[in-house]
Amino acid sequence: MDKPKNLIIDQHDFEILINEKELTETVLRMGKQIAEDYRGLKPILTGVLNGSFLFIADLVRAIDVYDSEIDFLKIGSYGDHMLSSGTITLDKDVSAKIKGRHVVVIEDIVDSGLSVTFIRNHLLYKEPASLEFATLLLKKEKAQVDFPIKYVGKEIGNDFVIGYGLDYQQQYRNLRDIYVTHN
Ligand code: 5GP
Ligand code: MG
Repeated sequence: MDKPKNLIIDQHDFEILINEKELTETVLRMGKQIAEDYRGLKPILTGVLNGSFLFIADLVRAIDVYDSEIDFLKIGSYGDHMLSSGTITLDKDVSAKIKGRHVVVIEDIVDSGLSVTFIRNHLLYKEPASLEFATLLLKKEKAQVDFPIKYVGKEIGNDFVIGYGLDYQQQYRNLRDIYVTHN
């Protein structure tokens, strides 16, 4: 399949930051680690929609713990499309009863850290037995979280990325690689 090397979207130049092969390797490594940690614990793997949908699909198949459950929540945030806003809404709550269960939240990217902090507070209230986070990408310099993110695929810089589920104004999610813009 032909894949764009570069993309120009609204005067932003995007170039490949993480290619499909590296994504596959990263996801397999994370899956292996999560499987080792959660075998026998019947974890609930909780994906955060929408941006994580491809990562969730690949990660859960890389976790060979077949008595795990898969669930979703959806959050929204308002503001400029390339900046995180301070306002987070819960658009869809988890369906599973997580009280007393081991929960792993699957996120696409931790940027300011507001979303994962919101999700953590929201889910802790439901009294899971344990709660950890797996994120494909972490903007290390920007992220402000006062708890450890246990599983991190790759640390990246502060610039805006798209592809592999991550959007530009709801578009470009189906790119197979992750692209970054520096302008
Ligand atoms: P945070 O709350 O950590 O600032 O940001 C979390 C959410 O904002 C992510 O789950 C993602 O949906 C979105 N986001 C943050 N940084 C980026 C980025 O570089 N590109 C895209 N497409 N979305 C981002
Ligand atoms: Mg997200």
